[in-house]
Amino acid sequence: NPTIGVLALQGDVREHLAALETVGARGVTVRRPAELAAVDGLVLPGGESTTIDKLLRIFELRDLLQARIKEGLPVYGSCAGMILLADRILDGTADQQTVGGMDVVVRRNAFGRQVDSFETDLDFAGISDVDDPSAGSGRRGGPVRTAFIRAPWIEEAGSEVEVLSRIPAVDTQGRPVAAAGRIVAARQGSLLATAFHPEITGDARVHGLFVSMVAGG
Ligand code: GLN
Repeated sequence: NPTIGVLALQGDVREHLAALETVGARGVTVRRPAELAAVDGLVLPGGESTTIDKLLRIFELRDLLQARIKEGLPVYGSCAGMILLADRILDGTADQQTVGGMDVVVRRNAFGRQVDSFETDLDFAGISDVDDPSAGSGRRGGPVRTAFIRAPWIEEAGSEVEVLSRIPAVDTQGRPVAAAGRIVAARQGSLLATAFHPEITGDARVHGLFVSMVAGG
């Protein structure tokens, strides 16, 4: 069984460990270089990307993480974690760096004030279109329940990036949505990123997808 680390410098670490457990993976916290060196996959949780960026450097994890990503380590970044995986960001702080690896431009806090935080159901390629009750806990199709908390979005994606989910054009009442069409989940090789938090809505299918990536899928 592969071991999946959750970067535990800041952010919602416990929720990711619980979601990984739900899909039958072994999750461990990662704070030290030796721990990072030992995992088969890594989750970068939501939190505050500027803080996690600083702590990655203070804890001497940043260079090792970049090296492991280049070697193909599967990494899943949620929200602040998606910001960290982006090669380029908009609306970052002056000294903010990312780890990079995904050929995307990510805008921080992109959803604006009055919709700082919200929950919604989203179509997600490879998840909402999959109905496979024979798989493990019984993967059912249907949209993924997501939570956006001062979330970023992907503003531009390079040709190697597979778009997995976008904000729909209209909401469930048929009203037009301001952020219509914005990319909120994507994959590039062994890197997976979501603007939202699937770990707090009780829908573990995104974690299931990541575990299958770690297992070689
Ligand atoms: N707004 C945060 C940032 O810029 C991300 C929010 C989150 O991870 N929920 O880092």
